[in-house]
Amino acid sequence: MGEHCFQKFFKKAPIAYSCHRVIFDNEGMPNGYEYLLLNKAFEDLFKIQETDLIDKTFYQVFPKGWEGEVHWKELIQNAVVNFTSTQFDIHLDSIQKWIRVLVFPLRRELIGCIYHDVTTEYELNEKTQKLERELFNNNRNLLTLTKKLEQKNKILTDLAIKDELTGLYNRHFLDQWIEKEMSRADRDHRPLSMVIFDLDHFKRINDIWGHPVGDEVLKETAKLAISLICNPDFLVRLGGEEFVIIMPGSSIQEALALAENIRQTMKKYRYPIVGHLTASFGVAERIKFESYCSWYKRSDKAMYQAKEAGRNRVFLSEDQDRPLNAPVEIKWKVDWKSGNPVIDEGHRGLVESANSLLYLFLAEVEKDKIMPEVNKVLDCIIKHFHDEEQILLETGYPDYENHAEIHNALLDKVFQFKKAYQAGDLKLAEFFSFIVNDLIIGHIQNADTDFFPYT
Ligand code: GH3
Ligand code: MG
Ligand code: MG
Repeated sequence: MGEHCFQKFFKKAPIAYSCHRVIFDNEGMPNGYEYLLLNKAFEDLFKIQETDLIDKTFYQVFPKGWEGEVHWKELIQNAVVNFTSTQFDIHLDSIQKWIRVLVFPLRRELIGCIYHDVTTEYELNEKTQKLERELFNNNRNLLTLTKKLEQKNKILTDLAIKDELTGLYNRHFLDQWIEKEMSRADRDHRPLSMVIFDLDHFKRINDIWGHPVGDEVLKETAKLAISLICNPDFLVRLGGEEFVIIMPGSSIQEALALAENIRQTMKKYRYPIVGHLTASFGVAERIKFESYCSWYKRSDKAMYQAKEAGRNRVFLSEDQDRPLNAPVEIKWKVDWKSGNPVIDEGHRGLVESANSLLYLFLAEVEKDKIMPEVNKVLDCIIKHFHDEEQILLETGYPDYENHAEIHNALLDKVFQFKKAYQAGDLKLAEFFSFIVNDLIIGHIQNADTDFFPYT
């Protein structure tokens, strides 16, 4: 019964099995096998009849020199000599399938095999690999494209902000960049200077030697100037034969020295073909909060004055010594001294604030730069009022309450003014006039002098 049952199981199990008798060579080494048993699933999988295989030898089924021959021998040896199981995958062209074979030992001369169709696994693998390869290739293409795009973008950006002839930054770049440099100078209280220079009688070069020679002169000039400036100064070609050097952190003296150095070096330099050339220079240091337009105009005007005065010279902006704030600067007065060091220090700070607002006003600074400065001044005033009230309370000033009320009323009013200015209902002149005249100076001169005897 057991035997019968086993036979049924073997025959009908939905997994392909086969059983083989191993053939040995003269030296006792396994050299092939013959088919003893196989089941229905085997027949179905390999599309072959049991009768076509039984008692046939390995070589009757597989031709000599078959690609899997060596492999098979090794597996049979594993099973019958080493008594171990081995699993391997093989592609059978005859049935167009990938088969996973497990070879295992039964007895010394008998081996069993179990077969699984793993074609889908391989197909899936192949598909995945193909997709991965495609993905890899696509990624590589994408990377190449991105790189090309970056290069093109750089060329485009360079074209937009650089001068093609000399490779220098152009006016467009300067316009974009200068605002940042000016804000930084204002914030850090650092000087910022500009040197404009223009080649003298450059038109003659074109007229005598032609435009290409003129171009060479411009390139040479750029190189020469570049060799004389250093970080953070930088050179821009404004257009034609006109250049500008922006000098962050440099005062007018340093700018004048650089301009003079370039002028002299250029004068001595022998340009190829054309020989000696000169240039005229205009120099201006930016006044705190001055607009780019005003600063540029002053430098340009100085350069034209150098031209008018006979060329080949450096001119300083004539407005440089007469800063915008000079005629209206509020000077500290001895009468304002209260005797209390904290209050006096506060009052001096407020006078300075008043002056800074006057600069802002006169320099015609853009609206968005005004509010941050105003807020700083208001913060100073609030702090000073607070300090002052504290001191008056401590010194027992009899009119303390009244004085604190005056402070509050002034602050209320200035915040109303601020709102009105921001809403566009109040002119800057009126707003600043209130802060400077009423809130700062007026208050120091009037109300505050009342408590001076106590401090
Ligand atoms: P000044 O001393 O008063 O500056 O006289 P100038 O001849 O240098 O000035 P002007 O403005 O009369 O002439 C400038 C010339 O520069 C005219 C223009 O054709 C020439 N130019 C402008 N851009 C270029 C350029 O890129 N290459 C060349 N070769 N010439 C240029
Ligand atoms: Mg010129
Ligand atoms: Mg010119």
